[in-house]
Amino acid sequence: MIKETSIEVSGIGFSAGHFVSEGGKCERLHGHNYQVTVRISGEINSQGMVIDFRVIKAHLRGLCKEWDHRVLLPAHSSQIKIITSGELTEVKTPDREYSFPTKDVLILDIIETTAEELAKILAERLGATLKHEFPNVHQLAVSVAESRTQRAIVVIDL
Ligand SMILES: [Zn+2]
Repeated sequence: MIKETSIEVSGIGFSAGHFVSEGGKCERLHGHNYQVTVRISGEINSQGMVIDFRVIKAHLRGLCKEWDHRVLLPAHSSQIKIITSGELTEVKTPDREYSFPTKDVLILDIIETTAEELAKILAERLGATLKHEFPNVHQLAVSVAESRTQRAIVVIDL
């Protein structure tokens, strides 16, 4: 007896700049070609699928496009202060100061731009959409990879 069926999509991502603070220090600004993988588990519907691959890919591409070619900043870091005034966004860390064009940054509702936190908001956003549209879907796993050797995975029940 089948307990659960899942589908998985990968090969979608975004390129973004970031830095993470830890213990009063910050990494240098750098970037990753982030790769996102999504696994969706649920019951097979009357069309013989958990969810159409095309639908989930379109949703995921939309989310990744918002983050592509941006500097990602955390709104709730204890170490990173962000001051946006019009076209300029100033960022102060314990040991550095940056100025970015406001249109090039994206301030996210997280404590640090770690892979874990990025996976968490992608999962929450994707989950909110899926929950309403696909009642047969029970669980969502989102993995955000910074490179081929390191990734964070967040699993949420819907
Ligand atoms: Zn990094």
